[in-house]
Amino acid sequence: MKRRPLIAGNWKMHLTIGEAESLARAIARGGIPADRDAMLAPPYTAMAAVNKALQGSSMLLASQNNGWEEKGAFTGEISPVMLKDVGCSMAIIGHSERRHIFGESDQLINKRLSGALKYGLVPILCIGETLEEREANQTFKVLETQLRGGLTGVASSEADKLVIAYEPVWAIGTGKTASEDQVQEVHAFLRTLLKKMYEKDIASQIRILYGGSVKPDNVDVLMSREDVDGALVGGAALQAESFIRIIHFNQ
Ligand code: PEP
Repeated sequence: MKRRPLIAGNWKMHLTIGEAESLARAIARGGIPADRDAMLAPPYTAMAAVNKALQGSSMLLASQNNGWEEKGAFTGEISPVMLKDVGCSMAIIGHSERRHIFGESDQLINKRLSGALKYGLVPILCIGETLEEREANQTFKVLETQLRGGLTGVASSEADKLVIAYEPVWAIGTGKTASEDQVQEVHAFLRTLLKKMYEKDIASQIRILYGGSVKPDNVDVLMSREDVDGALVGGAALQAESFIRIIHFNQ
C-alpha cells in the first residue's frame, strides 16, 4: 500500500516571531513536491505569523502539544479549537521531551490525542524507547505500551487520521541516527501491531514517521524503506537549506 509521505519539522522552543516568519518564508520558497506533505510546528507565539507567511504554500501547520478541552480553567494549556483558529491542522503529541522532561504519562497523552481528534486536528503520536530500554531488550514492549496507551479508546473509524512517529530517545538531538534496518524493524513491528488493533486496511493507511537526527545525508536511505512514511525533524528543520533538502528526499 502506498502512503503519502509526510516531512514534519518541529521547531521546539526556538525562534522569535520575526525569525520564525522569515524561516517559514525561506522554506516555503523551496517548494513542496506534489506527491508528499510537509509540515511545520512553530512555537505558539509565532503561529499566526508563520500561518500568514505560508499563505500560498501547501505547507501544513502543526502544534507541538495541545490541551483536550475547548476552553476553561487550564492555565498554561492551549485548546485544540484555538489551534485550529490560528491555522493548525495537525498536532505533535507525546514528544519525548514532553514525556521525559515534563513527565507526561500515556494516560495524559491519550487525553491530548482524544482532544485533538475530537476537534479535528490530525494527531502525530510520538513514541520511543530510551537507550537503557533498548539495551535491556525492552524496545518492543515499551513501544507497545506507549502505542496502546496513547491510542486507548480510538475507534477504527478515526484511526485512518492518525500519524505515528517512532523517535528513539537516544537518537533525538544527539546526532546518532538509528540505522535504516533498526528503523524498518520497528516500523514493521508497529504496522503489525496496528493491524491487530484496527481493521487491516485502516491500519495500512496509517503513516509511520521516523524521527531522530534526520539530516539531508541520511533521509534518502531512510525514506527508501518500506514502512518509513516520513520523518519528524528537529535540528535540521531550523535551517532552510537542510529542511528544503529533506523535503525533497529521493529527488
Ligand atoms: C525531534 O525533535 O523530534 C527530533 C527528532 O529532533 P532531531 O531531529 O534534532 O533529532
